[in-house]
Amino acid sequence: MEIVEVKDKKFSLFLSQDKIKEQVKRMASEISADIAGKHPLFLVILNGSFIFAADLLRELDFPCEVTFTRVASYEGTTSTGKVKELIGLNENIEGRTVVIVEDIIDSGVTMCELLKILAKKNPADIRVASLFVKPDNLKVELDIHYRCFNIANDFIVGYGLDYDQEGRNLPGIYKIVE
Ligand code: 5GP
Ligand code: MG
Repeated sequence: MEIVEVKDKKFSLFLSQDKIKEQVKRMASEISADIAGKHPLFLVILNGSFIFAADLLRELDFPCEVTFTRVASYEGTTSTGKVKELIGLNENIEGRTVVIVEDIIDSGVTMCELLKILAKKNPADIRVASLFVKPDNLKVELDIHYRCFNIANDFIVGYGLDYDQEGRNLPGIYKIVE
């Protein structure tokens, strides 16, 4: 089993790059089939989604528009769930089909807050595309239109996701070793 150390914690390989790629491709074809004709705006939630977004968008079969925003802070291994504001969204989304590209939905609180903020800007449609969902941890009702993996409540790093700002560059996904 491949083990890596990030700061004071050990993590073991959970998903290889190939396995992630397979699911990212599947999601991209679902999105392409559903909304290619709607000129969607992809709204990438930084920092965690940067690698996922880069891979997902390159698998779409149509040229797309992408923008980046930041909404939440996350410290240590538990979600703070405190969204204060949405930084960096300058596009007018009124009447647009917006696809939120998120790394992971844990309690769902971050996504819920984000959806509320975006709804006030009158988009035609908002869809959620998340690389991971922790279904057993969801505390709010959410429509998650596209997802690559459902996972258990373990803390993961790699492929854009960090542990205390480190480990985002690990090419696969690693799960914390208890
Ligand atoms: P939520 O508001 O859904 O509880 O939390 C969502 C945010 O928590 C994600 O965008 C991510 O930043 C962070 N998060 C939740 N679970 C994990 C995890 O297992 N690993 C990492 N690195 N971040 C996580
Ligand atoms: Mg995130």
